[in-house]
Amino acid sequence: HQAKRRDDGTRWQCWDRSLTDEAELSLEHELRGAIAGGQLRLLYQPIVALPHREIAGVEALVRWEHPRHGLLVPERFVPLAERAGVIEDLGRWVLEQACAQAKAWQRRVPSLQLNVNISPRQLDNQGFTGEVLEILDRAGFFPGHLVLEVPESAVVGGAADGAGHTAEADPIAQLEALTTAGIRVALDDFGTGYSSLRYLTRLPVDALKLDSCFVAELDGTSKGSAVAQAVLRLGQMLHLDTVAEGVEGEAQARELTLLGCEKAQGIYFSGPVPAAELERQLPAAASPR
Ligand code: C2E
Ligand code: MG
Ligand code: MG
Ligand code: MG
Repeated sequence: HQAKRRDDGTRWQCWDRSLTDEAELSLEHELRGAIAGGQLRLLYQPIVALPHREIAGVEALVRWEHPRHGLLVPERFVPLAERAGVIEDLGRWVLEQACAQAKAWQRRVPSLQLNVNISPRQLDNQGFTGEVLEILDRAGFFPGHLVLEVPESAVVGGAADGAGHTAEADPIAQLEALTTAGIRVALDDFGTGYSSLRYLTRLPVDALKLDSCFVAELDGTSKGSAVAQAVLRLGQMLHLDTVAEGVEGEAQARELTLLGCEKAQGIYFSGPVPAAELERQLPAAASPR
């Protein structure tokens, strides 16, 4: 039994806790058709630069508009896509769609960055960097404006010491290829994975995304801000871009600014919204800077 709601007017969520394995299987089957059949949608969430809070970029977040279950969030179908072996098709669709969209927006904000989430599984594909470059080339999108967000757990843990990965599918080698090609890489949900600080200095990454759980703890006390502060300091010392996610209030935005965080995103600024709505948040024309 499903229910669909729109909480706080910004974020669609779906529940159906009683999905049986059989239903999961049929969903998996339907997903293949959904990608080709035009049922995927992209929402965009602005990423603002601190302290002035102007839009510096957007993160593309995928949704599946299921004919019967309504709008599904990625937690419901990205794992299915990985299991069913269609994550590469999904990833290609997302990247093509998002690049075309962001390219159009760059007429208004020339330096606009596009953040796209990728699944760890996509890094296992030897040809991944080549495919990304091809898509960028077709879209006329500058590689330096693309940020691929990789969950921290995809690259630290097994990968850094080679365990669990063959030489052909070394995620770190793939990240190296991406960054060499000028594409930017961000470690997503930083601090929640296996957080191997030991490898951080050796990873070819450009940015850290401070997970929303640490932002939620910010309360003006030194204890509440301890982890956020430590992660931001670490990012600064390694000359990485620092982005806080899940900013829900002014106090958090202010505290992050004081801690030297460079960018932020969250419902306080804007939740993920359809393209037309994001467009209304962009400045009217390219600012002469
Ligand atoms: P993520 O990359 O960490 O994305 C941030 C999540 O936080 C998004 O959830 C976003 O809607 C949510 N969010 C936005 N503002 C706030 C806020 O103020 N507070 C809190 N607590 N959360 C906020 P969403 O859209 O459900 O996406 C969940 C995850 O699914 C993403 O986490 C990302 O890992 C994955 N994902 C999304 N799109 C794609 C995609 O195209 N491909 C792949 N492989 N994964 C994707
Ligand atoms: Mg992300
Ligand atoms: Mg994240
Ligand atoms: Mg997150």
